[in-house]
Amino acid sequence: MEKSSVESTTPVYTLSTTSTLSGIPVHSIRQYIDKGLIIPFKKESSRNLFSQVDILRLNFIHKLLDEGGLNIAGIRALLALIPCWAIRQCSLAEYETFQAYHSDSYPCWEASEKGTLCKNTNCRECEVYRIVENYPDVKSFLKTLIR
Ligand code: SF4
Repeated sequence: MEKSSVESTTPVYTLSTTSTLSGIPVHSIRQYIDKGLIIPFKKESSRNLFSQVDILRLNFIHKLLDEGGLNIAGIRALLALIPCWAIRQCSLAEYETFQAYHSDSYPCWEASEKGTLCKNTNCRECEVYRIVENYPDVKSFLKTLIR
């Protein structure tokens, strides 16, 4: 399939192709998945697939590790700062009971208990999870949090 004919969010690349396209080793991508930094699209066969947007996300993560001086726990903590309750406009009653609201060590999509709004949303497609796709560096990303 030609790259230009593929929607940027359509999951079409296997793990191995994603590794080749991103230049990030397969074992690193697996680690990012295990640590909740990226959510791959799961085929029925349980194979992971990735889109062009996922590759941008992988590059963002890799840059933070490689040049940003962060480790994986640091990136998880950074992602935990995204104010999901404000972005998704949860009610006060809802967000005070929402596990992710109280966590400073993992992003909301890693919470084992989800609020009502989130239960019916695929995190992979949620604006909160996808927020980092729009920012080329960590400072631009952080600026969005204090807008
Ligand atoms: S749907 Fe998922 S990513 Fe979106 S706010 Fe809820 S837990 Fe977070």
